[in-house]
Amino acid sequence: MSTPTEAEVRTEVREWIAANWNPDMSLLEWRTKLADSGWGAPQWPKEWYGRGLPHSLVRVVQEELAAVGAVGPAASGVRMLAAATLLEHGTDAQKKKFLRRILTGEDTWCQFFSEPGSGSDLAGATTRADLKGDFWIVNGQKVWTTSAHHADHGLLLARTDWDVPKHEGMSYFVIDVKQQGVDVQPLKQMNGHASFNQVFFTDAKVPKENLVGKVGEGWKVAMTTLAHERRGADGLAPPSKKGRKEGRIHAEERAENDKANEPYRWYPQRAGRVDLILERAKETGADKDPHVRQEIAKLMIMAKSAEWTARRARAAQQQGRPQGPEGSLGKLAASHVARGCARVHTMMTGTEAMLTGKESPREGIIAEILVSVPAVSIAGGTDEIQRNIIAERVLELPKEPRFDTGPFRNVRRN
Ligand SMILES: Cc1cc2nc3c(=O)[nH]c(=O)nc-3n(C[C@H](O)[C@H](O)[C@H](O)COP(=O)(O)OP(=O)(O)OC[C@H]3O[C@@H](n4cnc5c(N)ncnc54)[C@H](O)[C@@H]3O)c2cc1C
Repeated sequence: MSTPTEAEVRTEVREWIAANWNPDMSLLEWRTKLADSGWGAPQWPKEWYGRGLPHSLVRVVQEELAAVGAVGPAASGVRMLAAATLLEHGTDAQKKKFLRRILTGEDTWCQFFSEPGSGSDLAGATTRADLKGDFWIVNGQKVWTTSAHHADHGLLLARTDWDVPKHEGMSYFVIDVKQQGVDVQPLKQMNGHASFNQVFFTDAKVPKENLVGKVGEGWKVAMTTLAHERRGADGLAPPSKKGRKEGRIHAEERAENDKANEPYRWYPQRAGRVDLILERAKETGADKDPHVRQEIAKLMIMAKSAEWTARRARAAQQQGRPQGPEGSLGKLAASHVARGCARVHTMMTGTEAMLTGKESPREGIIAEILVSVPAVSIAGGTDEIQRNIIAERVLELPKEPRFDTGPFRNVRRN
């Protein structure tokens, strides 16, 4: 069947919204309708809660939903990474079991990749999964696990073979987080929030049918998750909508967002708050200081070019082109902008930038920026790792020497 035109999609979705949208229904009822109609994720395949539309037409659907103030599908958190990974590598049974509940927001997800001894070196993971009867038995420790404290399911990378090279001995699972044997302990950050956790697995169980991809192919599956994470579907909550809308469904959505976003209140600050720079320049009189003004100009130029790089990546995705170097370049650029912001905010605010509490500059927001921006240079792959990727895969420079080939059992660790 040929791809519908923009006008055809607009008419069809508009008619569907007119017949179905009612702000007084429950959030779950509406999202179930969205999922079952395919309008919640129109870019997904028709047989899996989508409409098989190209990315370029998704915008049309979003515009029509926004025009009547309709709530969208649940899209925040790791759930969209889970969906992208399952759509590419999952079995039909897994897609049937998980995808619909991702869109309706009934399940929350987290990502069990990093460990105390393997973050950048993700393929060095030592959490193990051993097959016993119909279950994989999981033992080990993960760390930095955002949202594990309220997640239902986790995307788990675990070692299933110790006698092959490290990238070949990993497998990928969906694990039930709320079971005995999974001990989630929140970690408090230097900005005072607790968004991530350390998680201990002691004989935790994963049913055989929750293996994603084949045994030993976990690395390949994890690369799909990471590619989507670098593209930006990384657990950031959607931007809050302006204005207070009436109706049961909006009240339920607000309650859901408040609960889900509580641990991430600092996320805007970790990006550096470039949106506050010009306001603060006027507020503090820094716009009169030629030296600071020059630094502000440099930062705003960098922020604009980073935004354009991100737009290029989005445009490529919308046209169905594979992700180019924009993923790593965009991630590095975001990290430069965040750190640049922290520096310029400090220049403008002076020593008061260190104060927190109601009486402090912008009620503590400036201080929170200073202690939150390092996260951008670490999460989803550090700056150094992005530079390695750009050097080796984009510029084709010689690879780093390796000391970790051969059976993983014999590789020196930690
Ligand atoms: C806000 C936030 C949220 C996160 N959420 C999650 C999550 O939900 N799930 C999850 O699994 N993980 C999560 N992480 C973990 C994140 O993916 C890791 O922190 C990251 O991959 C770095 O690993 P590491 O902390 O072990 O540092 P290490 O790998 O120990 O690195 C330490 C330093 O050495 C450098 N380095 C390491 N290897 C090289 C190399 N080959 N060449 C040059 N330099 C190198 C690094 O750049 C870094 O500066 C999160 C992290 C943050 C900050």
